[in-house]
Amino acid sequence: MASKTRLYVDHPLKEEQSILLSREQAHYLFGVMRLSVGGQVLLFDGMNGEFLADVVEAGKRGGTLLIASQTRPLQMPPDLWLMFAPIKKARTDFIVEKAAEMGASRIVPVQTEFTNSGRIQRDRLQAHAVEAAEQCGGTYVPQVDEMKRLDRVLNDWDETRQIMFCDETTADDPATPFEAQKDQAVGPWAIVIGPEGGFSEKERNRLRGLPYAHVAQLGPRILRADTAAVAAMTLWQTALGDWA
Ligand code: SAH
Repeated sequence: MASKTRLYVDHPLKEEQSILLSREQAHYLFGVMRLSVGGQVLLFDGMNGEFLADVVEAGKRGGTLLIASQTRPLQMPPDLWLMFAPIKKARTDFIVEKAAEMGASRIVPVQTEFTNSGRIQRDRLQAHAVEAAEQCGGTYVPQVDEMKRLDRVLNDWDETRQIMFCDETTADDPATPFEAQKDQAVGPWAIVIGPEGGFSEKERNRLRGLPYAHVAQLGPRILRADTAAVAAMTLWQTALGDWA
């Protein structure tokens, strides 16, 4: 049997609640997914877990669902931020989608000295994170921040949050696997990925000098930023996160 359609709802859900659908939600459930009265859908709100709901009214412009039961509790990802310098639109979308699937708790676009893209459409990126959570079975949706300057983010840094600094210049070094840094695991973390142009010397020196930053190598080849984001999250989740 095909798996049930999952829908993110941006208000708190509980059992026996009825949900009035917006025009877009009705279009998606009844127009695209072909559900009708008596059909069932899974809902999540990013806070209270996942719920099974029955379709009680289905129209072109709206409809009503009734929550029958809770199916899963909220499953929080580890406290891991993905910080990255936005690149071309489609590749930035990819990074956000993958970060949501792979279990980032927050997505922080940062402007670095060599960042080519001066702005982002935060709402669009947030919608990508929602969609990714809907399709991967997640019950949590990471927040996508507005873009901030890397130097300012570092000025305000909470020193209990460790940094996995993905430094492309290590590609030529004898490997220092991130796995080896497991001992320093506890507490919150952030992965930092640079833009196509890499980090400036100033940024690299600053990041390398931070006592809570750990330099990470992602193999002996230079990866594109989108590949690097996925590779870094895989390493982190395997060494320290919820994949273990
Ligand atoms: N233009 C740069 C490459 C930037 S790659 C150059 O030619 O040197 C984009 C980002 O991906 C980098 O800033 C880094 O954060 C990450 N990255 C790519 N390959 C990496 C590697 N082998 N080790 C660590 N980080 C890497």
